[in-house]
Amino acid sequence: MKRITIAKGDGIGPEIMDATLKVLKATKADLAFDEVEIGEKVYLSGNTSGISNDAWDAIRRNKIFLKAPITTPQGGGYKSLNVTTRKTLNLFANVRPCRSFAPFIDTKHPEMDVVIIRENEEDLYAGIEHRQTDEVEQCLKLITRPGCEKIIKYAFEYAVANNRKRVTCFSKDNIMKQTDGLFRRVFNEIRAEYPQIESDHHIIDIASAKLANRPQDFDVIVTANLYGDIISDIAAEISGSVGLCGSSNIGEKCQMFEAIHGSAPDIAGKGIANPTGLLMAAVHMLNHIGFNQEAKTIEAAILKTIEDGLHTSDIYSEAHSKKKLTTSEFADAVISNF
Ligand code: NAD
Repeated sequence: MKRITIAKGDGIGPEIMDATLKVLKATKADLAFDEVEIGEKVYLSGNTSGISNDAWDAIRRNKIFLKAPITTPQGGGYKSLNVTTRKTLNLFANVRPCRSFAPFIDTKHPEMDVVIIRENEEDLYAGIEHRQTDEVEQCLKLITRPGCEKIIKYAFEYAVANNRKRVTCFSKDNIMKQTDGLFRRVFNEIRAEYPQIESDHHIIDIASAKLANRPQDFDVIVTANLYGDIISDIAAEISGSVGLCGSSNIGEKCQMFEAIHGSAPDIAGKGIANPTGLLMAAVHMLNHIGFNQEAKTIEAAILKTIEDGLHTSDIYSEAHSKKKLTTSEFADAVISNF
């Protein structure tokens, strides 16, 4: 039996996690779930990190963590639990596949199938931020050679393992010559080790414009933390909805799987959130722990449900949808397509 730590999170988190657990349990995979409380309730109880020591113990013990989105309370003093988790567990690679479900879901980019591999521990998210004077705040960008080597090597290995043809590096090394310059230099060194994979480099600003306009021109993209965070939301949204994509956070000892979107407080409690992002994260998780057959079953059933026009409201359109489903009805439809 494989034990998984789960957290239901905040906002739409409990709704999409319940739907995902229902689907996982219906596969009859030999899994057990240990639930931990993280996020808003923990923050508001006075723990400014949003996570208890018991939760850390459960995550470290099971090594596999399926996490719903959480809300970081606004205002000073609260640390982002997402950033803390990635750094504490050394989850250095954030893998975000974004592809279209055309013609079943509206998108201007029916041929897009791009995987964004985002460095997950460094850059402007390294947490080196402080007040210089009452009027000046400073955040430092941290880029290390070992960090660049790990993420860029991971991107090429991912391309090899997943039959991808090209790895593209996005950076702003024309301006940040040392930090982004290092990222690009390491990319140039490592690409030479993978002659079988095409590789190229783009400056991030024009590359983002190209990605938004012609995502089908990209295959695997490797980039620094902040850039990857931004472009993966864009890629998910233009594929049809930010609610469709799951992500893996890969470390050497632990791995965390989550939807790429946030806790969507605007629709929380209404039962209308799309659980596909977290379901896709669960598919990544199952593949990662060797439950490949169950992963295939769930993924195929999600595709069939979407093809049948059974859609949650974020992807519903008069042209392509037959019926608008709630979060839990979507999970039931997926299970009925096993
Ligand atoms: P968001 O991703 O929560 O929502 C953006 C928009 O997308 C909203 O209109 C929302 O309704 C919609 N949306 C998101 N997921 C959806 C789904 N599954 N189905 C249907 N529609 C969906 O981004 P936000 O509003 O900027 O952030 C809200 C909160 O989430 C913030 O507190 C933020 O810090 C947090 N957040 C958490 C994570 C995480 O836990 N990994 C990631 C991003 C943001």
